[in-house]
Amino acid sequence: MKKLSAYENLSFNTRQSSAYMRAIQKFSKCGDMTIPEFSTAIGISVPTGTKIINDLLAQKLLICKGKREQIGGRPPLIYGLNKDLFKVVAVEVLLKRIRVGVLNVQGEWLAYDEDGDFRLKNSQESLDFIVQYVQSFLKTSKVVDTEILGVGVSLVGMNDIHSGKTYSYFDFLNEPLTKYLSGVFQKNVYVENDSYAYGLAETKLGGLREHQNGFAINLSRGLGMALLSEGHLHAGSNGFAGEFGHMQFGNGTRMCVCRKTGCLGTEASGFALEMDYREHVASGEQSSLTTEDPRYDDIIKGALKGDELCIKLVYDVGEKLGFALGNIINLLNPEIIIIGGKLARSKDLLLDGVMFGARRSALTQSMKNCHIELSKLDDRAGVLGAGLNVFTKYELL
Ligand SMILES: [Zn+2]
Repeated sequence: MKKLSAYENLSFNTRQSSAYMRAIQKFSKCGDMTIPEFSTAIGISVPTGTKIINDLLAQKLLICKGKREQIGGRPPLIYGLNKDLFKVVAVEVLLKRIRVGVLNVQGEWLAYDEDGDFRLKNSQESLDFIVQYVQSFLKTSKVVDTEILGVGVSLVGMNDIHSGKTYSYFDFLNEPLTKYLSGVFQKNVYVENDSYAYGLAETKLGGLREHQNGFAINLSRGLGMALLSEGHLHAGSNGFAGEFGHMQFGNGTRMCVCRKTGCLGTEASGFALEMDYREHVASGEQSSLTTEDPRYDDIIKGALKGDELCIKLVYDVGEKLGFALGNIINLLNPEIIIIGGKLARSKDLLLDGVMFGARRSALTQSMKNCHIELSKLDDRAGVLGAGLNVFTKYELL
């Protein structure tokens, strides 16, 4: 039997449940308010607003936050969401890392853990590991079950947002992954693609927050994109939008994970950086890196320490990315592009290449109106987005 959160219980409590849900959503989106402010915001009379707030105070979903400072008259009381009752579990499953945390509605981490030794495989064992990892994390974090609204999962690959079915991993299940995990965790589970989850974090709490049209580029070992269009993240018909890394680019011969050659992700990504390094060293170029077959993070570190080959390779990856981005700038006329993921750690070494590449392919006027910058979010952006996704499903963000 699924255990409902205090917020979900509202829908069963009274005949006025929809008014209460709407009130909670308003407080969540607008922040703290006085009774008159709340009544105006929601379009109801002050007596009705007073009754709703009193009922929600009784259920501890709202709390009094003190008095509003003002000159003259009796200072009114301010009310706000009791954020302790609005939490989600956020999980990010990457190829070589798993992250899990408990997040409140303001995007603050209440508990967090990650495992860099994890290796994702399309197997029941791998799925069992993920479930056990999350369950043991929840046990140690001691979060009260009824305070958890749901579980948000970010999973690499193609995931259908309507059916909940995943195509790149765990496609052997007899039911959609969301349904399987809902049964295991006894909570509503929402599975999103990693780049969409990352884009959601940029949209709600990062560089896309104040914008209507833009992209968030997720540049780590792979390459993905989230597309903000007229204030909404564009998921596509099934949730497959944003597969920027599989756009055909030049005449590359490297085999992509999608089993095609010529994909942009094989030329502009962490994977590409590793391939480029191997090829350049094999052709006799020198590098100060001591590792024989470095991972892309090592190459980024090398570049930041001044290694000439690493600097050149990071710049080249940036240039190819920028050149490809120029085509999308021409197509969609974005006002901002945020570049995130691990490669963004190489800062201007990457960004200078991106700018050079984009200027080569974008139309001058479109380029002039498009600001390109590095993400200010940290490595937890993807798992943050997975959690925020649950709040958006409950219309709390
Ligand atoms: Zn591909």
